[in-house]
Amino acid sequence: MRIPLIAGNWKMNKTVAEARSFVEAVQGKLPAADVVETAIAAPALFLQTMLEANTEDVLRIGAEACYYEDDGAYTGETSPRALHEMGIPYTIVGHSERRRYFNETDDVINRKVQAVFRNGMTPIVCCDETMGRRESGEKIHWVVNQVTAALKGVSPEDAAKIVVAYEPSWAIGSGTSASTDQAEEGCYLIRQTLADIYSDDLANGVRILYGGSVKPDNIAGLMAKNNVDGVLAGGSSLDENSFIQLANYQ
Ligand code: PGA
Repeated sequence: MRIPLIAGNWKMNKTVAEARSFVEAVQGKLPAADVVETAIAAPALFLQTMLEANTEDVLRIGAEACYYEDDGAYTGETSPRALHEMGIPYTIVGHSERRRYFNETDDVINRKVQAVFRNGMTPIVCCDETMGRRESGEKIHWVVNQVTAALKGVSPEDAAKIVVAYEPSWAIGSGTSASTDQAEEGCYLIRQTLADIYSDDLANGVRILYGGSVKPDNIAGLMAKNNVDGVLAGGSSLDENSFIQLANYQ
């Protein structure tokens, strides 16, 4: 059984004080983690404060990115080893904004996936797709290639724990989500790719999220789809009441 995962991605928003008050506000208002798991991926400099405010310990506090080396001379980067020591369970890897603005290639993303696993965390691996690619029919290869590249050299034991997010870039931040059928199609394609690389059993156990303009009023339709096991929400995860509504979509 795949436990739904409702995850937020705050991106470069909020301050430490705002992050603390959000976490305080959601205590006692989220579903039990064995029914619907909830997570917020936040900037690294908020994480310690958020962990301290998370007294109920139902919400998972995740990171938005990290580097692929554990330590070293990489000014300004976040160490996956340090994240793990803090008790961070999840790190987003390969978000389309990282690919686009920070030039993260498939090879960099693959190294980051391996670093996250090596340090005892679970990557939420994002793959994107542009409208041009969707319309040209190229999406099939594009999404398959991104997932395949991200998982190069990853053992079945690690791959079984991965979370993958299908995030069409034309839906991110646009206010218009993919249709429920488009979300299902993308998530199904990712599951098929995992089955081809590993096995049907492994693919059937992996959680695949949809991301791109998910809101309290469209989440239920998306979550009703067979291959959509959760969401990665940006804008609508910033407000505590909106996130509480997402988490309680059922
Ligand atoms: P959005 O962002 O929900 O604001 O569209 C989603 C994401 O980028 O993960």
